Formats: sequence, C-alpha cells, structure tokens
Amino acid sequence: MKSHWQIAIALGLAVLVGMLVPSDSRVFAACGFVGGLFLNALKMVVVPLIVSSIISAMSTFGDAGALSRIGVRTMLFYTATTVLAVVTGLAMVNLVEPGIVDGRPARELLGLASGAGQLSEHVSSAKLSDVGDVFYRLVTPNPIKAAAESDLLGLVFFSMLFGIFAARIPGAAGQVQRDFWAGVRETMMHITALVMRCAPVGVFALVAKAFSATGADAIRPLALFFFATLGGLLFHLLVTMSLLLAVIGRVSPLRMLRAMTPALLTGFSTSSSAGTLPVTLDCLRHRAGVSERVTGFTLPLGAAINLDGTALYECAAAMFLAQAYGLQLDLVTQFVIVAMAVVTSMGVTGIPSASLVAIAVILGAVGLPLEGLGVLLAVDRVLDMCRTAVNVYGDGCGAVVIGRLEGESDILSRPL
Ligand code: ASP
Repeated sequence: MKSHWQIAIALGLAVLVGMLVPSDSRVFAACGFVGGLFLNALKMVVVPLIVSSIISAMSTFGDAGALSRIGVRTMLFYTATTVLAVVTGLAMVNLVEPGIVDGRPARELLGLASGAGQLSEHVSSAKLSDVGDVFYRLVTPNPIKAAAESDLLGLVFFSMLFGIFAARIPGAAGQVQRDFWAGVRETMMHITALVMRCAPVGVFALVAKAFSATGADAIRPLALFFFATLGGLLFHLLVTMSLLLAVIGRVSPLRMLRAMTPALLTGFSTSSSAGTLPVTLDCLRHRAGVSERVTGFTLPLGAAINLDGTALYECAAAMFLAQAYGLQLDLVTQFVIVAMAVVTSMGVTGIPSASLVAIAVILGAVGLPLEGLGVLLAVDRVLDMCRTAVNVYGDGCGAVVIGRLEGESDILSRPL
C-alpha cells in the first residue's frame, strides 16, 4: 500500500480511537509515548537536514544573478500568499460573525472578563515576535545556539551565507566543502525516509492523543469560530493555492495535493511545520520532482517565514475576539490587524500553538485584553493541526511555482 494511504488510514482510525478512549487511560499514555518518539525522530533530522540542504543548494548557484532572482521571486510569492491568507481570514470572520450570537456580542457566553491569570504563563513562556524582532533574529549572534534551539530564522540566514561563500572558494578546498555538505544532505534524506516509514504509527499515536485530550465537546461553544476559520483555511488551500498553481505554475493542483499528502498529514498530526520540514523536502524532491537547488532554498526559508495558515488564524482570532467584546472595528484598525498578522506570522516558529503568542501581540496592539486567549485555547489544538497543514502546503506550492518559473518542466509531470 502507498505510504500516503497508510498515513490517511492511520489518521481516520486515530480520530475514532481518540474519541472513544478517555484521557486517563493506558492507551492514552501509550499514544503519548509513541507519538513523542515520532516527534523526536522528526526533530532529530530537522537541523542537519536544513543546514545541509541550504548549503548544497546555495553552492549550486554559480552566479549571483540566479540566486537573487530566485530570492526575490520566493519572497514575493511568500509575502503575497500570506497577505491573501490573512484577507481570507478577515473576510470569513466578517461574513460569518462568529463573535455575535443572536445579534449580541458573545462576550458573556464565552465567559470573557475572567480568568486572565491562567494566560500570563502561556504568553510569557514564549518568545515575542514583532516587526523588529524578525530582522533582529535573522542575524543570529551564535549559529550553534540557533541550531541547538531550532531557531530556524537565524539558522537559515547563516546557512545561506555559508553556502554562498562556500561556492566561491576555488580549488580543492571549495570542492571538499561542497561534496561534504552534499553527502550530509543525502544521508539525512535516507534517515528521513526511515522516519517516514514509521509515520503511520506516529501519526496514529499523535492524533489519537490529541482527539482524546480535546474531544469534540470542546469545540461546541466556539463552533462558529471553529468552522469560520476552518472554512478560511480550506479556501486558501483548495482555491487560492490551486489557482496560483494552475495559473503561475501551470501544474495540476490535484497532482500537487497527492504529492503533498504525506507532508500534509504529518503537519496535521504533529502541529509543527518546522518539524515536518524533512517530510516536505522529501515530498517536493521525490514526489513532485522539484530540483534540489530550488527545494533546498525555498522550503527551509518557507518553514522559517511563510506560515499562511498561522497568519489567517491570527487575523480571524483577533477579529473574532473584537466582535465578541462588541467592538466596532474601523477600517484602519482592521488594516492594523491584517498588517500585524502578516508580519508576526513571519516571526512565529513552526511549533505547536506558537500563534497564541503572536495573537497576544496583536491583541495588545489594538487594545484588547489578553484574557480572550483563554477562550481560544479550547479550540486551538484542532485548529493548530489544520493551520499547520496549510503552512506546510504553502511552502510546497512556493517550491513548485518557483521551480516552474525557473524552467523546470518535469515538475508534477508524472501521476503518482
Ligand atoms: N503550529 C504552527 C506550525 O507549526 C504554528 C502555529 O500557528 O501555532 O506551523
């Protein structure tokens, strides 16, 4: 059986088991253990794979012109898709108005105005990410520390510099560098393939645990917000991205979805787009047929700064809370929310629940109390899974479109 079917079946079974198994049972504990092992295995591969992929990709760019062309195109694509995602989130919340129940703000129904205390811990434990912070973290003072802490932004920047200059070293010294990093990348790809063979079991364990802990009940009071956000995420994944793939990339969106299935399902079950990066690289390289040169550059960069689903969620959440508090947001404030969602999503690390911090920043910027975050926690787990899959897909689409613009004609040319 093909690997994506195995993972899909595991996912379906996991939702069923998760709903039936109580969160204090042995099965739950076992799922936590096995899921944790799978996550560890993915994280184990991330840093060496990113570093070696970027360095190898960079050293294949002979001239600076090609590199800056790909760089500019990639940044344009990622920024444009993030803006589109945020606007989709804004439109959905304005359309569905999940914060208004029976014509009145849902403030009391949601129990807002209490429980602010529980949140402070969540917010202060994570790193704040605002505009200046993104640039500041780009130039990491310590690449080894960035690697140890999986700080993708700093690591990607350092690896790019390293690759660019390794490519320019003449003679044997340069060749040794290039061969070495190509070898490391090759080896890491094999380890990734091994980890992926365990994916059905890992995905089953992670998803069963998530559903058993959260359950469908938690979603009920916030159902409208949940479905509005989900609708926005699906729209971005199925409509916006498909259009971009078909119009700019001239490839079949259906084939892309099939090629990305293992990465989408891994993103969904791990809630970590950074952790899914090895799988995304594998899918784009081997299933979609994008060159190493393009994947090695676009995907790690995308994992660091291109989080479409996260940006959409941030905007939807801030707007939802504003509605629930009964605030009439003028166009300027809505614009601030959109701009903040785009920028903060670039600073969010691709780990579970990372957006909550960015939402705290946005709420602060528009003057809403932080207690609203507590309301979001109820639905955050499942929405995190969904937005992470969208984040992963956005990076993949970036690689495909850039590859096509670079003249790679056999991308997605073969049916899977
Ligand atoms: N979990 C998301 C990711 O890894 C980040 C977030 O939105 O919380 O992509």
